[in-house]
Amino acid sequence: MAKKNVYFFGGGKADGNESMKNLLGGKGANLAEMAGHPDLHLPVPPGFTITTEVCTYYYKNGQKYPAGLKEEVAKALKKVEALMGKKFGDPGDPLLVSVRSGARKSMPGMMETVLNVGLTAKTIPGMIRQSGGNGRFVYDAYRRLITMYSDVVMEKGGGIEPKEDMGIRRQLERIMHDIKKKKGVALDVELTVDDLKTLCNAYKAKIKEVLGKEFPDDAMAQLWGGIGAVFASWNGKRAIAYRRIEGIPDEWGTAVNVQTMVFGNMGDDSATGVAFTRNPGNGDDHFYGEYLVNAQGEDVVAGIRTPAPINTVSQSDHNKDLKTLEGAMSGVYKELYGIQKRLERHYRDMQDIEFTIEKGRLFMLQCRVGKRNGPAAVKMALDMVKEKLISKEEAVLRVTPEQLDELLHPIIDPAEEKKNKPVGKGLPAGPGAAAGRIVFTSADAMRWAKESKQVILVREETNPEDIDGMRAAAAILTARGGMTSHAALVARGWGKCCVVGCSAIEIDLGARTLRIGEAAVKEGDWVTLNGTKGLVYAGQLAMMDAAAENQDLNDFLKICDSIRALKIRTNADTPDDARKARGFGAEGIGLFRTEHMFYGKGSAQPLFLLRKMIMSSSVEERRRALEELFPFMKKDMKGTLEAMDGLPVTIRLLDPPLHEFVPHQKEQREQLAASLNISLEELEKRANLLQESNPMMGHRGVRLGVTYPEVSETQFRAILEAAAELIKDGKKVYPEIMIPVVGEVKELEDQLVIAKRVYAEVLKKSGLKKIDHMFGTMIEIPRAALVADKIAEVASFFSFGTNDLTQMTFGYSRDDIGGFLQDYLEKGILPDDPFQSIDIEGVGELITMGITRGRKTNKNLKVGICGEHGGDPRSIAFCYKAGMNYVSCSPFRVPIARLAAARAVLADRPAKKKTRKK
Ligand code: PEP
Ligand code: MG
Repeated sequence: MAKKNVYFFGGGKADGNESMKNLLGGKGANLAEMAGHPDLHLPVPPGFTITTEVCTYYYKNGQKYPAGLKEEVAKALKKVEALMGKKFGDPGDPLLVSVRSGARKSMPGMMETVLNVGLTAKTIPGMIRQSGGNGRFVYDAYRRLITMYSDVVMEKGGGIEPKEDMGIRRQLERIMHDIKKKKGVALDVELTVDDLKTLCNAYKAKIKEVLGKEFPDDAMAQLWGGIGAVFASWNGKRAIAYRRIEGIPDEWGTAVNVQTMVFGNMGDDSATGVAFTRNPGNGDDHFYGEYLVNAQGEDVVAGIRTPAPINTVSQSDHNKDLKTLEGAMSGVYKELYGIQKRLERHYRDMQDIEFTIEKGRLFMLQCRVGKRNGPAAVKMALDMVKEKLISKEEAVLRVTPEQLDELLHPIIDPAEEKKNKPVGKGLPAGPGAAAGRIVFTSADAMRWAKESKQVILVREETNPEDIDGMRAAAAILTARGGMTSHAALVARGWGKCCVVGCSAIEIDLGARTLRIGEAAVKEGDWVTLNGTKGLVYAGQLAMMDAAAENQDLNDFLKICDSIRALKIRTNADTPDDARKARGFGAEGIGLFRTEHMFYGKGSAQPLFLLRKMIMSSSVEERRRALEELFPFMKKDMKGTLEAMDGLPVTIRLLDPPLHEFVPHQKEQREQLAASLNISLEELEKRANLLQESNPMMGHRGVRLGVTYPEVSETQFRAILEAAAELIKDGKKVYPEIMIPVVGEVKELEDQLVIAKRVYAEVLKKSGLKKIDHMFGTMIEIPRAALVADKIAEVASFFSFGTNDLTQMTFGYSRDDIGGFLQDYLEKGILPDDPFQSIDIEGVGELITMGITRGRKTNKNLKVGICGEHGGDPRSIAFCYKAGMNYVSCSPFRVPIARLAAARAVLADRPAKKKTRKK
């Protein structure tokens, strides 16, 4: 049987269903589900979906349709006509349709739509009769069709690239503007039927003049033009840019949905709106949405008029004076309320719905899983578990690591915020806060961001062409539009700070200036946004990290903990960081870098002593310097061991090449020489000897300990004495001593002899019978992974140092990859930065091999990761699969790692699902 290309829906039946998103696109699959599922049977205007496979075929075959498509479309159209009792292109009672795109994943505003298809010189009179003589309405629909069709089908679909501001849509808008000016009216609705007729004729003449072709006056030609344009829009510039950002494959293609038109602009008993079954901004379980009376669907999303709230809980400062749908059309509202409840129970997730009311009759135009910001995602997931709508596993899968990240985003320091008065207020469309310099165009946002400037993109309203600039900006601020406007939708999807509909704003694009209420600001001035409350402040306000004291977050992470298998540790070098990480749920320290004590606050004295040790030329000299350094080391380790209260703390011995610590300033060199009792010349000679051409591959890590055993000895002693003293004070401690940069087991054995001797000495001195501890190594040199079986006979644990392992496996310097990484990414040579996300194919193979070989000789070998990858969700999933015991990451990544580790488990086994509720 030939492949089915067209799927019908309507009249309580549908060929497709919700599970067919890949074939029918998200919109088509959900239209079929709403229309055809026995639990729903919702009032969906009948129509049909042309599959995504047709799109793929179309591109593979020189933009031709598969055989039989025309016939299938004609057959489906007949079914629609039969249900509606109207005929497409019929002069007496014409059927009008919309033609819309619909990919697997929603791509808001990225692809094209043509409405009112089927209006021609022949059908207009019939349409006027059917609408009760409403010529104004019909000609308004006609001018919309001409505008959309010429823009979408004739210009964009025809591959025409107009000059800046000379697109056909802009040219037609200017005609409209001129007519309104001539008539002295401000609004489109003030134009008479004769004005609209004149307008339509002027439009058609302009199209002929600019595009050199007539606007088609044949219903079928319009339909096929629309279908072709939707397929063409899949490869439009905007759609491609969006796919790159979102990682959507080009091969997916889009479906085309052809559906009976219903009109929200047939008078004051008609309306159109967008709503969410729960509040997507904060997760509250309230039906939430906006609508416009006497308007067509696109008007709501376009942000041209300020939409009214559908009910009182949807009111904001911005729209509270407008009449709610509940108040204006209570019967329809009740029906809509019931439908949204059913939809949410049916889909067991928050739905984003589009509806139209035509002369008091409700129609459902779309439903899909609603985008939500991080805080809302967490709250909804928790609430739905409590409502027994979803299982705990499903809750974990409902929140992405990126969404969780939003809860950990900076907020304005509350004390600062109290002191400052907002200069404007809009709608809270994207969470967190951001400060930045304002820019007025997407291109400027990209340019400034490239220069590492933090910018806030300010627009009257955004449209899909602004997408790259919106991405580059730290936050977005618009003057118009509601919670469902383009800016809000996109920002919410990305979790970006965003304030929309700030009506106090007046933009002067030409002058690149802005008035916000009383305040005047110009391009480059700082502005601060509170995206959670919708507030705008002039100037740069101080930010702070949102406290971990968020009950929802903690409850959600507890669910994650009940599922995950990996332990989560942190990389921390100070008691403060250790405490912070414990607050976020860290279960140990996976990397304590000893050298941190020689940087930053309070480091002057230990650094001086370290330099003295480095510049020593004999063992005696070195020992004397080490003795002075010893109390500092011990104190440092003690602080962190104590803060972790018995949780494991992996303390790594000194790693960096010594010359990094050699002072450069003359004065410091003189001081050091005096303290060592040597001349400046002698000191400089010694410093020069430490220079290496390839320091990252030089005298560092275990190699220092091999050459200077006394350096390792002092560190072993500091760790073990710190532990002994804490134990004697009744504290719990668990140090894990880690040797870096090992590539050969004998290096480790060499160090272990020293460690054992020191351990015995510390026991004797302290009178303790034992100090629980472990001795292990980092695997960060490829050779170490290859000979892991031998190393594991000596080491009790491995910690994969994937920063160095990546550097040495690729041979890319971790400090200099920036010079060529961008080219590699753009050319697709690397899929992403291998220093951020583990290169599973290469580095990952070494890790897997290291673990397998290591566990072969030491089945109790404990394995973790402490490179930067330990906080990257994709790498965490890999670590879980590779059989690690823990991952370690920076304190702020710990919550994300807890979630990622739980999701890694669920990626391996299906989540338990609650059954659908009727
Ligand atoms: C590593 O190499 O992955 C590591 C954690 O050590 P460092 O970054 O200190 O070299
Ligand atoms: Mg390293």
